[in-house]
Amino acid sequence: MQAFAEKIHLTSSEFARRAVDVLQMNMGRYCNLACIHCHVESGPTRTEMMSRETVDDVLRFLASTGIPTLDITGGAPELHPDFDYLVAAAQRLKRHVMDRCNLTVIFEPGKDYLPEFFKQHEVELVCSLPCYSQENVDQQRGKGTFDLSVRALQRLNEIGYGQADSKLILNLVYNPVGPHLPPPQGPLEQDYKRILRQQFGIVFNQLFCLTNMPITRYATHLKLRGEYDRYVQLLEANFNPATVDQVMCRNLISVGWSGKIYDCDFNQMLDLPITDDEGNALSISTLSNHQLLNRSIAIGNHCYACTAGAGSSCGGALV
Ligand code: SF4
Ligand code: SF4
Repeated sequence: MQAFAEKIHLTSSEFARRAVDVLQMNMGRYCNLACIHCHVESGPTRTEMMSRETVDDVLRFLASTGIPTLDITGGAPELHPDFDYLVAAAQRLKRHVMDRCNLTVIFEPGKDYLPEFFKQHEVELVCSLPCYSQENVDQQRGKGTFDLSVRALQRLNEIGYGQADSKLILNLVYNPVGPHLPPPQGPLEQDYKRILRQQFGIVFNQLFCLTNMPITRYATHLKLRGEYDRYVQLLEANFNPATVDQVMCRNLISVGWSGKIYDCDFNQMLDLPITDDEGNALSISTLSNHQLLNRSIAIGNHCYACTAGAGSSCGGALV
């Protein structure tokens, strides 16, 4: 495999961050699900969680910058005890708040208020639904997940999410069940819209197609099945230079549950923090925006997953 850094024909100083538009924060690894493809290796037994102090550090940093979007992820971020506090505070700062929601979380004990809470704070929802078929979703995310996801989407539609004339945005996320690239996003979105409307009366705004990242739990899954080498070769063989300018790390930073700063959620899981000139990991507790500008990005062969085919990012295909 050719090293990604050589493939893109850019030095690390040329592959650098521009202005940050999105602050993504990972509130922790606790989740009510334990999906096969989860690069965070989240699940019900994980205990790592962002402290209130670090949540306040994120809000302080956000207030000191013009970063327009806060993108909240986990684990299941809604199960963090400070989730509501964070969302309300970010809205007071007049930031656009996105929540990466697994849908089933609204049926967890004591969480049935979440749809109305999302609505009240105009939270944009980005919800995983890796297929419109029960079999595929349950295979990847666990038995019963598809039915709960459908019920959650119907509930969100009832209160205005995803409707044509509504400002309540409901986006869905597709990722392949098997070791292959996502199909073209536009036609798949049309299929999702037609089938979900016909079968369940569900409407939504956009579909984001994501490529599975062959690290952590998903790498183990592929290796156990003897599919790892073939999958990483597939990613490299489909490298698309047109995606390099658009990858999400060019305009995003990711804050881990411990307060360290990363180029993206994947680098967070690979423990590749953004460092200062002395090699010390930057922390949200002392971070200022100018420390980020033009700082080079920690790239590696995992970056082929963001640049294969149409590319992949938190907002779906890149080109
Ligand atoms: S719902 Fe999301 S965070 Fe939770 S295990 Fe699945 S992929 Fe990971
Ligand atoms: S994994 Fe993707 S987002 Fe992260 S550094 Fe590599 S190209 Fe950028």
